[in-house]
Amino acid sequence: MVLVPARMSPADEQRWVRQMVDRVTAREQAVAHRGPRGSDAALMSRARELADLYLQSGGYPASIRWVGTMRTRWASCTPADGAIRVSDRLRDVPGWVLDYVLVHELAHLQVPGHNADFWALVNRFPRTERARGYLDGVSAVAALPIAPDLTDDDELTDDDELTDDDELTG
Ligand SMILES: [Zn+2]
Repeated sequence: MVLVPARMSPADEQRWVRQMVDRVTAREQAVAHRGPRGSDAALMSRARELADLYLQSGGYPASIRWVGTMRTRWASCTPADGAIRVSDRLRDVPGWVLDYVLVHELAHLQVPGHNADFWALVNRFPRTERARGYLDGVSAVAALPIAPDLTDDDELTDDDELTDDDELTG
């Protein structure tokens, strides 16, 4: 029910109702976009679930958060302080694709590089290959300079990480 202020002309009233509807719609869209899936807290709870399911609880992230669109990678993990960052670009991908990225970054808490041990961990997530294919497709369509098969870039030095952070805050 909408309470319309008294003494409005029918035209004012229509305009006012339209404004209210627009405002509610905008709020609903914001909620749908940002949460609950879109919140940092939701990322953390999902990351913990996935760690329990696939990585034998081999370490939870100390922090995990959405960051502004990253041009060259989908996510990053800094094993030294257990921080995981996830690109805003992944807000709209299917849940299982986001799950893969989270498992990938969680596995880096145990194995920093992309060696066989690392992939043995990640491949416990059953849809790893499909998700990697999906991300390669997104990267190709959006002409992103994200190398095929590379979810992130752990070859980066710490200095590179900081340079990247500058880009992220924009
Ligand atoms: Zn990686």
